[in-house]
Amino acid sequence: MDLCNLSVIKSVMADAGITFRKEFGQNFLTNRMIPEDIAESCADTSERMILEIGPGIGCLTQELALRYKKVVAVEIDRGLIPVLSRTLAEYDNITVINDDIMKIDLAALVAEYSEGMPVSVCANLPYYITTPILMRLLESGVKFSSITVMVQSEVASRLVAKEGTADYGAITAVLGYYGRVRKLFKVSAGCFVPAPKVDSAVVRIDLHDLPPFDIKDEKLFFNLIKAAFEMRRKTLLNAISAKLAGYTKEQITAAILAIGKDEKVRGERLSTEDFAKLANELVK
Ligand code: SAM
Repeated sequence: MDLCNLSVIKSVMADAGITFRKEFGQNFLTNRMIPEDIAESCADTSERMILEIGPGIGCLTQELALRYKKVVAVEIDRGLIPVLSRTLAEYDNITVINDDIMKIDLAALVAEYSEGMPVSVCANLPYYITTPILMRLLESGVKFSSITVMVQSEVASRLVAKEGTADYGAITAVLGYYGRVRKLFKVSAGCFVPAPKVDSAVVRIDLHDLPPFDIKDEKLFFNLIKAAFEMRRKTLLNAISAKLAGYTKEQITAAILAIGKDEKVRGERLSTEDFAKLANELVK
């Protein structure tokens, strides 16, 4: 069954008596080359478990099942579960779970299904909740080897932005700590039903095995990034002293100078490594 075919999508949904649910960010792919390309590029070896978020009616899920040993797909919409059991009936390496990816116990899920294999995440993400899902995956403590997601084009630009550019933000700096991010390819809005207002892009994050730098106080490091970008127009010095209690302006200035930056620098000029160094200076 071509699960990207518009008539197939409409008929399986009509048969189940369901319609697209905007509140769940349901924009289904209608160009079968896209799920093939995403599945092909989301991991390097087939002996692994893929965690898919939001299978919809299963177009990406089936491509994943053809290429990887085990696929676990978490879908929030209860109405899609009977649809998926029909559309994916011929694959014996797929488990569909009706749950919310923001609530499910990710460590328990991986322990139950991965059989010790490496685990990668692959998803055409619901756009209303992209960043919270990414943060939940990264902060879960689960050792995913890669996370490949389709996101809105402008979000993709933010995820891969270089410091000092307009697109560079807190999420970019945080991501730099967890892994290496690449934009793989663009997907036009016309490849979905219903068509979203903007184009999309697929991004792959290869997670570091070990943290890339030694950070003495992780909480402080993340708080510094948050402070810097919450008050983006202020100098880093003013942003930190407004948002972070416990440091005098003199201490903050000394730390900024110690990492080789000007005291008038703005946070958006600092790379992830600079934030790490700054946090370590403030700990001293
Ligand atoms: N994978 C399908 C495709 O590419 O055509 C559907 C992608 S659609 C953009 C997003 C999917 O995520 C929908 O099936 C939606 O119901 C599901 N979803 C939305 N929020 C979710 C959540 N919090 N947890 C799990 N699935 C969710």
